[in-house]
Amino acid sequence: MAYRGPRGTYDVFPGGRDPHERPELWTFVEQTARELFRRYNYREIRTPIFEEARLFARTAGEASDIVVQKEMFTFQDKGERELALRPEGTPGAVRAYIEHNLYKLAQPVKLFYAGPMFRQERQQKGRYRQHTQIGVEALGTADPLVDVEVISLLYSIHQAVGVKDEIVYLNNLGDAQTRRAYVPELRAYLQRHRTDLDPDSVARLESNPLRTFDSKDENTQAVLAEAPKITGYLSPDASAHLSAVSRGLEALGVPYEVDEGLVRGLDYYTMTVFEAKSRALGAQDTVGAGGRYNSLIPDLGGPDLGGIGFGTGVERILLAAGSREEEVSLGVFFVTLAPEARLLAVRLAGALRAEGISCDLDYAGRGTKGQFKQADRSGAAYAVVIGEDELAQGTCKVRDMSSGEERAVSLAEGAKELLRAVAA
Ligand code: ATP
Ligand code: MG
Repeated sequence: MAYRGPRGTYDVFPGGRDPHERPELWTFVEQTARELFRRYNYREIRTPIFEEARLFARTAGEASDIVVQKEMFTFQDKGERELALRPEGTPGAVRAYIEHNLYKLAQPVKLFYAGPMFRQERQQKGRYRQHTQIGVEALGTADPLVDVEVISLLYSIHQAVGVKDEIVYLNNLGDAQTRRAYVPELRAYLQRHRTDLDPDSVARLESNPLRTFDSKDENTQAVLAEAPKITGYLSPDASAHLSAVSRGLEALGVPYEVDEGLVRGLDYYTMTVFEAKSRALGAQDTVGAGGRYNSLIPDLGGPDLGGIGFGTGVERILLAAGSREEEVSLGVFFVTLAPEARLLAVRLAGALRAEGISCDLDYAGRGTKGQFKQADRSGAAYAVVIGEDELAQGTCKVRDMSSGEERAVSLAEGAKELLRAVAA
C-alpha cells in the first residue's frame, strides 16, 4: 500500500528541489518578513485555521471566486455546524478585532499573520489547495497614508527576499455610492456586447460585472478596452484618495502603475485595491495583493471604521525570487573511534550545544572512514576525534575541516578548552 500527499499539497523537506519545497528558504522568507513587521510596528495575530463558513461567505461576497467557484473546503462538525478551512486571512483577523474589542485601543491596530490557507482549486504551478500567506491588516483608519505604508511594506518584503521585476498595480474602486453609479453603466455596456463575452463573464453580468475585468479571454478583453472605466465615476473623495496614495508611493520610490481595469476577487473592497506582479512568474504572476475595506468592520458587527490589508503567497514569492544555494552548516561533528568514546561525545555535544554551537555525531554505526565522510557531508566546520589514545590522555583531537589542520585539546576542565577551540 503506497500513500501520497493529498492533491494540491506539497511537502517541505531537506533536499526538496523546488524553492517552495526547501525548508531553509521558508525560514529565510518568514524571518525577513518578521523583521520588517518589527520595523513597521505590526504585531502578530493568530486565528484558528477554521471558522464558521458563513463568515467567509459573507466577507468574500456572492460573486467571489471563493463562493462562485466553490473554492472553500467546508465541513460539518458533530454538532452540525457549518465550518470551513480558511481561504484567506482577513475575515478571521477582522472577526477577532471585533470580538476582542481591539477597536477600543489606540487606532490603527496594525496586525500581521503568517499561515496556511485552503482553496479547492485546480493545481498548477504556483497554485495549490493548501498555500501559505503572509499578510497584514491595518484596522481602524481610512488614512490614505496607511495605504501607502501597507503597499510599501508588501513591496519591501518582496524586495528583501529577492523577488525580481516587480511592479505594483493600483486602482480605486470608490465607495458603495461610486459602485452604484458605475456598475449599471458597465453592465448595460457589456449587455450590448454580450455575444462577444466568454461564458464566465456572461454568468457574472448580473451579480458582479466588475469581475469581467479579470477575464483572460481575448475577445472579452477587446470589449473591455472600450468599456466605461470606474475612474470616470469616482467621487471627489475617492479621486483625492487615489492621488494621495500615488504621491505617497512616489515619495517612497515604490514602482507602481494605475490600472483602471484592476478589480479584485473579493467583494468587500472599497477605494484602494492593488496587486504586486512579478514578470519572473508565468501565468500565476500575482505575488501579493490586497485592498481597503471600509464597510467590512461594520458589516461584521463592529464600529464604522475602515481597514486595509494585503496577503502574499510564500510559494509564489519563492518562485519569483528564484533559487538560492543551500548552505548547510554545522559547528562540530564528533568522530568516535572506540565504543566507550560515544558517551563522552554525547556529554561534550551537550556542553557545546548549551553554549550555542551546533553539534552532531554518528548514530548509524559508521566506521572511522564513514564518520569522517559524514562530518564532511554535514558541512561541519570541525571534526572532534576521540579514540583510545585520547580517552587514555584525557584529550580530544580537533580537526579544522577546511584546512585539515589538527591539534590536541585537553578535556581536563570538561568542554571549556574545546569550546574555545571551536568557537567562531
Ligand atoms: P489568483 O487570481 O491567482 O487566483 P487570488 O486573487 O485568488 O489570486 P488572493 O485571494 O488575493 O489571490 O490571495 C493573495 C495571494 O495569495 C495571491 O497573490 C497569491 O500569491 C496567493 N495565492 C492565492 N491563492 C493561491 C493558491 N491557490 N496557491 C498558491 N498561492 C495562492
Ligand atoms: Mg484565486
